[in-house]
Amino acid sequence: MTHLEGRVAIVTGGAKGIGEVITTALAKEGVKVVINYNSSKDAAEALVNKLAAEGCEVYACQADVSKLEEAKGLVEEAVQRFGKVDILVNNAGITRDRTFKKLSREDWDRVIDVNLGSVYNTTNAALPYITESEEGRIINISSIIGQAGGFGQTNYSAAKAGMIGFTKSLALELARTNVTVNAICPGFIGTDMVAEMPEAVLEKIVAKVPKQRLGTPEEIAKGVLYLCRDGAYITGQQLNINGGLYM
Ligand code: NAD
Repeated sequence: MTHLEGRVAIVTGGAKGIGEVITTALAKEGVKVVINYNSSKDAAEALVNKLAAEGCEVYACQADVSKLEEAKGLVEEAVQRFGKVDILVNNAGITRDRTFKKLSREDWDRVIDVNLGSVYNTTNAALPYITESEEGRIINISSIIGQAGGFGQTNYSAAKAGMIGFTKSLALELARTNVTVNAICPGFIGTDMVAEMPEAVLEKIVAKVPKQRLGTPEEIAKGVLYLCRDGAYITGQQLNINGGLYM
């Protein structure tokens, strides 16, 4: 029996990319994982089937976490299915990159709502359950862009920086409970989100990374496992997994 066996986690945007690998890493530790997805139904079902075949307890739940009522529904479904919530990984995210001059209010709002508004929504819904946990964990997948900024990313960097401020404030508020609240700030990780960038831009980015390569989703999932397993005295922090790109 591993330390995490029997815990219940919700991973938002957990069917693809970094979320898929976080889901898989937790499930293989014996965590019961609710895989939230918005439009990636096929990917979510395929992941449930794959992990269930390996003996993992996982469940897929559709919800647009940028909407409060849907986030509440997600948490209620998780509790109905598995009886509690110990771990919330706020991973769902989108980019709509434009230089500020061309950035519409709509693209501003959508990126803020999905990346940051969702964190309010899921945390608001899950907190009454997580505070009941012996070792509650809220882990917000922020970004290096929230720390260092990014060209054409005022909306995304504002949302990701907002997640860091949220993390610190909630960590203070919950410090006397069993719940820790931390952010993970990935650098550039090889997923669809990064594949959308022009190749020439990506090459220039990799050249600037001290480690001279992109990170892997597995390296982010290891950070999540570390905080879940060994993070009882770690709260309000930013765990930078970025190959040295931002120090
Ligand atoms: P991805 O696009 O592969 O995955 C994002 C997931 O979020 C998808 O499964 C998507 O369906 C889901 N999602 C989007 N909107 C949603 C909504 N409204 N409700 C529920 N789910 C929704 O991207 P990724 O690279 O795996 O990114 C995962 C997280 O890591 C994001 O928050 C992203 O900002 C962050 N991040 C990624 C990188 C990177 O280099 N890839 C770097 C830093 C931070």
